[in-house]
Amino acid sequence: MNADLIIKNATIHTMDDNRPKADQIAVKDGKIIAFDQEAALLQGEETEVIDADGRVVLPGIIESHAHPLHYANNLLQLDLRTETAPSITDILEAVSKRAQEIPEGEWILGMGWDDSKLKEKRFPSFEELSEAAPHHPVFLKRTCVHNAVANRKAFEASGISEDPVDPDGGHFHRNSDGTVSGLIQENAMMEFAIPSVTINQLKDAMREAQEHFFQWGITTIHDMAVSKKELTVYQELCKEGGFPLKVRMWLWGIDQMGWQGVEEEALALGLQSGLGDDHLNIQGLKYMLDGSVGGRTAALAEPFVDDGDNRGILYMPQEKINKHVSRAVANGMRVSIHGIGERAVEMALQAIEQAAPLDENKKHRHRIEHCALPSEEQLERIASQEIVAGSSIGFIYAIGDSYWNNLGEERARRVFPHASFRKHGIVSPGNSDMPVCPGNPFFGMYAAVTRTTVGGQQLGTEETIPVEEAVKAYTADAAYSGFDDTIIGTLSEGKYADIVILEDNPFTIPEEKIKDIQVSQTIVEGETVYKRENS
Ligand SMILES: [Zn+2]
Repeated sequence: MNADLIIKNATIHTMDDNRPKADQIAVKDGKIIAFDQEAALLQGEETEVIDADGRVVLPGIIESHAHPLHYANNLLQLDLRTETAPSITDILEAVSKRAQEIPEGEWILGMGWDDSKLKEKRFPSFEELSEAAPHHPVFLKRTCVHNAVANRKAFEASGISEDPVDPDGGHFHRNSDGTVSGLIQENAMMEFAIPSVTINQLKDAMREAQEHFFQWGITTIHDMAVSKKELTVYQELCKEGGFPLKVRMWLWGIDQMGWQGVEEEALALGLQSGLGDDHLNIQGLKYMLDGSVGGRTAALAEPFVDDGDNRGILYMPQEKINKHVSRAVANGMRVSIHGIGERAVEMALQAIEQAAPLDENKKHRHRIEHCALPSEEQLERIASQEIVAGSSIGFIYAIGDSYWNNLGEERARRVFPHASFRKHGIVSPGNSDMPVCPGNPFFGMYAAVTRTTVGGQQLGTEETIPVEEAVKAYTADAAYSGFDDTIIGTLSEGKYADIVILEDNPFTIPEEKIKDIQVSQTIVEGETVYKRENS
């Protein structure tokens, strides 16, 4: 028997304790069949051989908490964040370019502009946008998503007069001469007849998003908010082919965040965790208990910095989450509960503790998502229930500065405490919550190792972990969190050949360079799905 693929001359970190390192790996029928000398013997005439030229090879990266379809949906809109469009001129250019690409009358949607950061320190006007796209309705959301700007065609297409009446809780902003300025606020945004995205558009966008994930070395992704639309898109993509990304689906439990919950329907149908296959499967039900640190809505034990007695918000009483979790577990569904502040982590813990006897709970590998600020006592209980801490360590890099500002130094030093998780034996996969934060997993590994923010602030050194452990958080531990530890997460004989080859060696480069690591090649089940140019 010859191998289909052999990667040789490689620095392979398998993340498998039984064989931590190797220099050759052989693949047959999408699975790993041999290492080193034994692998070399399997080279035949038909075997594809990749000479890694000494590069580091890791298991395919598993993003354990993301919103891939939201990320994909964003690709359908113009990206107007300051990083990509620093001035109004840039925004108008992007709009008129899109107008030339799509048929007249189709909506041009965009998001991410921020007047406070734009060069002109103002928002693009009604007249400017009407001139940039005279035949297309334009609707561009501000970064906060509570405001937008629109053009004449958008008013016309929505049947809104240019002398509009403000709806309850909304406002059409006007110029000093009384004409509409184009700025639309709060509920007035609902007056616009923006067509909803079609399943076909989403599928195309998801295929494009998949390319981005492969560029980052991600071969498996957990979608934390799956309802009918997401389930439809993933099922159709899997049937149609050309979608090798492995997807793990967490069904959105109840109506929250403006998204419709499907707990009732899922339990009525008798769906259980694990339904599906190695490519696409159902993980469990997801619930949210508190907000965010950036929005000062995470449910903290003590108030936010300089914010009176604001300790954040709990989205429901204890009895309610208890009921949902009990019902889910009784019906064979594991749960994943969003808890950031100590009070939310406490509520999640109590809900899980009361749902089933310890032995049964342990079998489910329930998850507390983000798990930013667990107390020492809570860490012990998380460990004893064998709950997975779905740690959003990527937040430290991308938005850690807001953590420092909103929580103060003492608490910022103990957010996403990976060293403490390890000490307690808590499995703690890393994540980005993409598109909340950038999906590049090397930002998360960098944050785990250095606890340094994009602004250069270090959130203490007590909770730093070695590079090896940071890689584990995005491979073996993430596989465990999805009951995938027998099929992916380490490079081991019999597991899928989901493999990444890196340009730089994370174990030897200076720590500050980990965030800049580029992927050289990504392989899913033995097939190359991404190859960097000039590598
Ligand atoms: Zn999320």
